[in-house]
Amino acid sequence: MKTLKEEIVGLFQKCGADIVRFGAAGACKDPAVLKLMPEAKTVICAAFRQLRGARRGIEEGSTYYQYTTNAVEVLEENVMPIALLRVSALIEDHGFEALPQRRNQLIMQEEGSTNFEMDHTTVYRGKKAENVLDFEQCALDCHLGEMGESGSLLTDEFGPFQRYVFIITDAEIEPDKAVEPHLCDKCGKCAAACPGNALKSGKRDPWQCSVYYNGANMTKNPFMPPDAFADDPERLAVITGECDLSPERAKELLEQLIFYPPVKHSYRSSICGRACDTACYIHLEGKGVLSKKFQSPFRKRPEWKLSILEPEK
Ligand code: SF4
Ligand code: SF4
Repeated sequence: MKTLKEEIVGLFQKCGADIVRFGAAGACKDPAVLKLMPEAKTVICAAFRQLRGARRGIEEGSTYYQYTTNAVEVLEENVMPIALLRVSALIEDHGFEALPQRRNQLIMQEEGSTNFEMDHTTVYRGKKAENVLDFEQCALDCHLGEMGESGSLLTDEFGPFQRYVFIITDAEIEPDKAVEPHLCDKCGKCAAACPGNALKSGKRDPWQCSVYYNGANMTKNPFMPPDAFADDPERLAVITGECDLSPERAKELLEQLIFYPPVKHSYRSSICGRACDTACYIHLEGKGVLSKKFQSPFRKRPEWKLSILEPEK
């Protein structure tokens, strides 16, 4: 007979999860876990791969929305919620309570912050979030992987290419072994690859990131018209990613950054293609440390860069 742990892993896998890990609720560093369910014994993390091919269009400079649609929106809004509900129902069939946790993309951990993947005007601008899971900390507490300098969680299987959800439950299930960090070697390639200099001292500036995620760097945005930001006194610094943006200035620029259709559910199409994560993946793949192998490396040609265009007078 299968144990509850085996049943949970099996059903999550049937629902498309690639990695399933278990952490002890009492050992979680994120206090939200026990605030959300004071009797919680276990936190279950399920990670779903982002297809490598979903990044191909951005890598080649051709089609961009496939990344956001297939590697962000469909996972977050369809695949992962259905898996969460089905596995939660399985746990409740065993007589335990299950509290599914998916990201609320519009509530921020820090006051005044933003979510670079979303239309910034849809982000809730009230108090900072309380009793909302810190997804990255929770993934670490469930032993999914380690935190990279990029701020992305890295796993042995996919490097930075996955998204994840959780179930908090009062079922006591044996936790998995702790993961000793061994992937991130602080090579700095993630920060160097960002077209907007948004990763500084191992931290992502959410507003600077938003502006360049949305494609403010002309050298990496095939859709930007030559007259973009024509009247901006800092035009050159903006379109080459060399400016330092306050949240207010970032909002001003974001209003002008609509060169590519958004995806549904307020997700913005990624123009940077999360170059930070792509560079990290290429680095880890090159070192041969990822367990999911491909027949050929992701980067097949030298990275392209467009020239800066001057607006017509
Ligand atoms: S690119 Fe290098 S420094 Fe950045 S997260 Fe990956 S391994 Fe760490
Ligand atoms: S590469 Fe894109 S997602 Fe990564 S920090 Fe820069 S702007 Fe943000």
